[in-house]
Parts: sequence; C-alpha cells; structure tokens
Amino acid sequence: MHATPLLLAAAALSAPSADEALERYEFAQIHMGVPFTIRFYAPDEASATKAARAAFRRIKQLNDLLSDYDPDSELMRLSRTSGSGRAVKVSDELLLLLSRSKDLWEKSDGAFDVTVGPVVRLWRKARRSKRLPDPDQLAEARRAVGSQHMRIDRERGTVELLQPGMRLDLGGIAQGYAADEALRVLKEHGITRALIDASGDIVVGDAPPGRKGWRIAVAPLDQAGEGTSRNLLLSNAAVTTSGDAYQRIEIDGARYSHIIDPQTGLGLTTPSSVTVIAPDGLTADSLASAVSVLGPERGLELIERTAGTAALIVRIEEDEPRVWTSKRLAQFHHPQLTGEAK
Ligand code: AMP
Ligand code: MG
Repeated sequence: MHATPLLLAAAALSAPSADEALERYEFAQIHMGVPFTIRFYAPDEASATKAARAAFRRIKQLNDLLSDYDPDSELMRLSRTSGSGRAVKVSDELLLLLSRSKDLWEKSDGAFDVTVGPVVRLWRKARRSKRLPDPDQLAEARRAVGSQHMRIDRERGTVELLQPGMRLDLGGIAQGYAADEALRVLKEHGITRALIDASGDIVVGDAPPGRKGWRIAVAPLDQAGEGTSRNLLLSNAAVTTSGDAYQRIEIDGARYSHIIDPQTGLGLTTPSSVTVIAPDGLTADSLASAVSVLGPERGLELIERTAGTAALIVRIEEDEPRVWTSKRLAQFHHPQLTGEAK
C-alpha cells in the first residue's frame, strides 16, 4: 500500500527525462498530388523511420480508395455505378467520408457537396483551355449534382447513386482525413508528439517536449502580399486553410476558384482564404471548403454552431483585405508567437 504513492512520484519524475531523450524527425513524400510532411519526436532513427513509413503507407492506401484522378479507385468505381439502380457495398473509410460529407451537406444548406464532380471536371478542363465551361455542358453536368441523389445505408454499408452521370469528388475532405489517419498510425507506433501537414491541412497530436503546443503560422492570402499573418498554438487539433490564393484560374479578367458553389455551378470569384480549426482534420478540411462557399456571415454561423471549431476568414473586397473571426478563435490565437511550425 505504502509503495504506491512513491511509485507514482517516480513515474512522474521520469517522464520529463524520457521526453528529453526524444529527437525531432521530419519526413516528406508526395501523395494525393501534394507534398505531405510528417514531423515528430521519437526515441531513435530506426523507430522514427518505421513509423513514418507506416504512416505514408496508410496515406497511399487511402489515395487508392478515394482518388478521383485514378479511374481504378474505389470512389471512381462507385461513381460508375450511378443510375444503375444498384446499392454498392463500400469500404469503411469510404462509408465514413460519404456519411460525414452528406451530414455537412445538410448542415451547410448544400454548400459542401461531394457530388459536385461533374462540374469540377468541366472547370478542370477550363483551367487547361483557359476558356469558361460551355453553358450547355455546365447545365447538363449540374443535373447530376446533388447529395440528395446519394443514398447511404449506414447499417448495410452501402451507397446508391440515384442519378446517371454522377461523379464523386472528395477533394474537399480526403486530405484532412488522410492526415488524421497518418497521426493515428504514428500513435500506434508509440509516437504522440507529431504534426502532419498535407499541404494546408495540418493535424497535430501532443505538443513537442517542453512546449504547450505546436506553433503554426497561418498567412491567409499571403502569397498575394495582401494578407495578414496569425500564429496559432495547437495540440491534439487540426487546422486547414482553404483558399484560392494558390489555385485559381483567370479567364477574361475574372478569377475563378477551384471551389465551386453548387448552387450556381461556378467557381467562387471573390478572392478569399478560410482557416478553420477543429478537433480533427476531416472536420477542419470539409468545414473550410463549406465556409468558403457560404461566405463570412453564413460561414461563421456554421462555425459557431459546430462544437470545438473556430475560423479566420480573409477576403479581398475592393482591393482591401477584410478579416472576420469566429468567437472561439481567441482560444487558439497567440499573437506573441512567431515562426513556423516547430
Ligand atoms: P479544398 O482545397 O479543401 O477547399 O477543396 C477543394 C476541392 O474540393 C476542389 O478541388 C474540388 O475537388 C472539391 N470541391 C470543390 N467545390 C466543392 C464543394 N462545393 N463541396 C465539396 N467539395 C468541393
Ligand atoms: Mg477542404
């Protein structure tokens, strides 16, 4: 009996020294068409390399299921059954993402819609040809858009796409989820002090040794030199910046984002950058896309009624940056910090 408090004290004392023995490691690979960086603290190189490899393997596995570029992915095979009258059994991962996507479609009044694929495809062509999508083709593509046409049976694990010509696109949610899964795999390998950066979708576990959190500098619209930089301090959370600062096409003097407003079938035209903090990457990634479409007022409403989330929105209006922040942002914002994620 008497030994118990002593043992507990010993364990608490030894914890910091175990942390001090940790080294910082960083690995990077291209997946889903973007660089994924994994940064963490581990006891030695052999265990670090093993854990990083396993995390990247998981990301690749998810890409094989969820890619809309690979015609053999599970997602694309499912899309090809649209209008066939068949309910298709899908993997747990695809079921989770499509279920969560449909939930957010409802919560966002249709702003987030993973059935937007036929329209995204026309905009990808427009980007290459530098010509706006043909109105007739756009009208036809839009007939196959709408998550009401995606019937999900969570009990049976099946999905039925009711309308012919449907095409699913998880580009607004899959990277965040892949980052969550990479962190989960690292934890299975005993690594908890980790950061995964999927090019804008960042997920962090426990803080680096001796620190309160991971320092993350968010620079909305910075590339255009129009932005403002904010510093966040995060642990066991996720942050995504979704914006057209990096991906936009210019046609006839107008700029169109790669994010589509499902109501109009058009790329967004107001330059904006939306940063969302959430408990996990899947939530942060998908909400950032949804808020981009909804705009500041309706977007912030969605953030305020979604537990554990916060947002920073910057839009360029009449050549001037305008900033909106949600109430919970102050919990994560640390103005005194500078520098990159460490
Ligand atoms: P993100 O960069 O996370 O905002 O995601 C943008 C990607 O999501 C686009 O490249 C499309 O693949 C897809 N997407 C575009 N518009 C929407 C939308 N309204 N809802 C869901 N996904 C979308
Ligand atoms: Mg997104």
